[in-house]
Amino acid sequence: MAVLAAVLAVFAFVGAATVHECAKLSRECEVNMVDIAGALEMFAYDDGSGSYPESLDDLLPYYFLDIPVCPGGGSYRYKLKAEDGEEYILECTVHGSH
Ligand SMILES: [Zn+2]
Repeated sequence: MAVLAAVLAVFAFVGAATVHECAKLSRECEVNMVDIAGALEMFAYDDGSGSYPESLDDLLPYYFLDIPVCPGGGSYRYKLKAEDGEEYILECTVHGSH
């Protein structure tokens, strides 16, 4: 019985560590997305028209040297929502839109 309890304790520990790591990556991903959102706002402001860029690549090289990469292996999907370019969708393929 003590062996079973020890085995369960090890599994619980490994499980908790994995969850902790996931939460950490998710937070880092969220920080990236906040950075990207900030750059999008600056782009729209500097553009004068208030329009967001067609693609995240338009943020290079003035706002980013490289677009941040999700630490959890996801990629960022960016899409203009409205034709006038005043709304956008930004989400991570792993972590969603946070
Ligand atoms: Zn992510």
